[in-house]
Amino acid sequence: MVYLCFNTRVNVNYIDSLLIFQMQSSEMALSSAPSETNNVRTIVARRYYVKHSIVPFEEDATHEFKGHANICIEDIPNYCVNAGASSKRSRQPISKTLNGFINTGEGGTVYCGILDSGSVKGIKLIQYKKDHYVASVDDCMGRFNPPVDKSRYEVRFIPVVEPNSSQAEISAICSYDSRKGVSLESRRREHLLRSQNYCWCDKESIALFNNNVIAPSYIIEICIKPWAECASMKNSSSLVNILSPYHEDEEGLCYFRRQASVVQYSLCEMIQFTRQDVQDYFKEKIKKLEEQLKMIIVSGNKIL
Ligand SMILES: [Zn+2]
Repeated sequence: MVYLCFNTRVNVNYIDSLLIFQMQSSEMALSSAPSETNNVRTIVARRYYVKHSIVPFEEDATHEFKGHANICIEDIPNYCVNAGASSKRSRQPISKTLNGFINTGEGGTVYCGILDSGSVKGIKLIQYKKDHYVASVDDCMGRFNPPVDKSRYEVRFIPVVEPNSSQAEISAICSYDSRKGVSLESRRREHLLRSQNYCWCDKESIALFNNNVIAPSYIIEICIKPWAECASMKNSSSLVNILSPYHEDEEGLCYFRRQASVVQYSLCEMIQFTRQDVQDYFKEKIKKLEEQLKMIIVSGNKIL
């Protein structure tokens, strides 16, 4: 199997092909590449997903599946925006979930390329498209109010392998480096963000496809770190660093992750939550101080 340049033309439009999937269950969707150790070299084990298989976890408070990779509101195609009285979108931007993960403070991961059913679909990406998504997530986090520090999140591209791939094929896919042969200068071109129109990197992908070059598939994992982890890195006991901050998304809205969905809260509710967080934080400290005070009073009485 030639991974990047096989000559089978898929008889559909490239972009449409990203949306195509087949349901096929498998015992394990997420695994690690085989580690081959001998006297000459060691292949480092890496994670990968198996196409059409079902991942061994469900959507919950810290996991969200997305069959698309529309990061912000402007990326949502017109056909997903209903013109009805409710103006409700049939597709939600990923920023909404990221905002929920950040505001809840527990962190979480969005998996772009995994369907709601948990079936692995994958998204075909050349290096330029990977760069595009990293830039898009950075842009999205920079638009939140206040902006989200880069230390709070991470974008990972985990390879997707075909079912029944051999260990040699899996190792080859997992060790494939899409940066090779791509100059840094060409990667510095500015991407078209906040738009549903094709970026130059989309046109590059289509041109490659038309030349029978099919890009590898990946699951894009956008990982939000728990606030406690980030606060401990700052090594600060300041109240501002201990309590998870709240951020507005690019539409000025605040979301929280509640089980497997996001819930929007009003400003009044946010103030209420902040008060409760502060009360909870000081509750234990006040209790300890009261106990210490009681002991001091008892000791004082004994002396008298
Ligand atoms: Zn681009």
